[in-house]
Amino acid sequence: MLMKKKKLRLGVFKYSCCAGCEFELIYFQKHIQETFDNSEVVYFRMGESGGSEDGPFDLVLIDGAITEAWQADQLKRVRQATRFLLPIGSCAVNGGIPAIKNHTSELEMEKRVYQDITPVHSMKTHPVDDYVQVDGYIKGCPIGRRDLYEAFTSLLLGKKPDFFNYSVCVECKIRGNTCVLVSYGWPCMGPVTNAGCGALCPSYNRACYACWGPMEDANAPALARQFEAMGLTPDDIFRRFTQYGSPKPEFRRGAELYGSTTKPF
Ligand code: SF4
Ligand code: SF4
Ligand code: SF4
Repeated sequence: MLMKKKKLRLGVFKYSCCAGCEFELIYFQKHIQETFDNSEVVYFRMGESGGSEDGPFDLVLIDGAITEAWQADQLKRVRQATRFLLPIGSCAVNGGIPAIKNHTSELEMEKRVYQDITPVHSMKTHPVDDYVQVDGYIKGCPIGRRDLYEAFTSLLLGKKPDFFNYSVCVECKIRGNTCVLVSYGWPCMGPVTNAGCGALCPSYNRACYACWGPMEDANAPALARQFEAMGLTPDDIFRRFTQYGSPKPEFRRGAELYGSTTKPF
């Protein structure tokens, strides 16, 4: 007689972000229904009401950056209630778009956004791994389907997920693209950006703007100096290295040459 396999107990938590990664997760279900059929959704507020925030979970996916104290508190509790925890998308992995505000004073930023700041309790933006240990990263803005598939199938098969650890340039060369940096002198962030998107933008004749976030050991200062030699202003260079992952040291090393990233993080 066949043994009934235990289902993977899944939790999905959302913090500060556009929720695009959770939408992507819902679309993604259609493609891997079999994998999802082996999961029990314990908590996923955008997917269905109810559920238990307390777990226990086998796998928790975190969407969004941490910008309020309650989020950090809950994140720590969730970490204790799960076997595997993966941040999904640039906001959770790198701070992402919400971290653009880290370069302006918190009060000034709150006043720009809200008429009444009395009930606002925001703080500087942090990626998930500033607060808890993580078991890997599903990168992208929104998340890459290949990495999502890799994470789910690996956990179901009991193996370690194999994520890309090289730059977008490698994928670009595999696709046989003309290099927009070398051939056209466009400020492409591909050399310092983690692969996973299949070099989407250069394949459509556009420079990469780093939405996947930094690759490990990225040499951001070298690329930043190259951008300067190409005529970009300090502001332009600073923005390129702070648009998607400004809290990450790999990108901050490039940004710091052309502006202050030392305003309170
Ligand atoms: S990573 Fe991009 S798509 Fe995902 S939640 Fe953040 S801003 Fe939205
Ligand atoms: S176009 Fe950009 S990503 Fe592609 S090889 Fe050139 S620098 Fe790298
Ligand atoms: S090429 Fe760069 S900006 Fe475009 S999708 Fe890939 S990582 Fe994002």
